[in-house]
Amino acid sequence: MEILTTHLPSGGCNYKFSSINISPMNFLQVNKYHQNCPKDNLEKYLYNIRMLAEEEPRIYDCYVMDLDFIIFYKQLITVSSNLTYNVKVTCPYCNKEINKKLVLEKDVHFKAIDPKVMNGAQIALGDEMFDIIVPTVRDFMKVLDKYVRYKTVTDLDVIKLISLFKNVDVQGNQIEKAVLGATHSDITLLQALKDLYFNRLEDVEIECANCSKTGERRVLTMSVNSLIVDFFRDIYINCPINGDKILFK
Ligand SMILES: [Zn+2]
Repeated sequence: MEILTTHLPSGGCNYKFSSINISPMNFLQVNKYHQNCPKDNLEKYLYNIRMLAEEEPRIYDCYVMDLDFIIFYKQLITVSSNLTYNVKVTCPYCNKEINKKLVLEKDVHFKAIDPKVMNGAQIALGDEMFDIIVPTVRDFMKVLDKYVRYKTVTDLDVIKLISLFKNVDVQGNQIEKAVLGATHSDITLLQALKDLYFNRLEDVEIECANCSKTGERRVLTMSVNSLIVDFFRDIYINCPINGDKILFK
């Protein structure tokens, strides 16, 4: 399936191509994924990227800010043939289970992006100035590869932050130290960079119908990332077979 780059969280800003191709996994691939996908967080992410790149090499030229959405999209079209996704959540107020059908176009939104943000920035971190770039998956892979190997940092969000720094290949240790050792307003700065350059998906809102009956409007929020954790289990919830699929003799 073709995704227009203008429909990605970056809005397609500065992309040199207008679309990418992503297709649903078939049964063989789902089984392969199930058997081979590493449990380790970082290795799993790397595995997802390589899987996407196998069918669409331009993944490496996409921005990291678009990557999580592309992974979500790949999983969504694998479990659903019409871009909808059934989720079950328990309302924390009344403990009733809520069944919600998420519709990609209606329920999944990106935060609006300022084109200025896409040209990078200069930041003051600690006593130093650093240049910030908008990393592509290719830029990010160089950083991720290193941490998969040496495991000195295991938090994916921190590794993404480190990949924002322009000179990470020559100043890697210095940048790692500045990021990990950040204090006070520098922590706020790093959080702001994270929101600006990576967290582009709005949380999904789910209203509890049971609570609404009593006049209380209770809305739960879920992150899109939390939705895809169990997506293989969700294949069976989302793709039940009906009576005409199997005819017993
Ligand atoms: Zn409720």
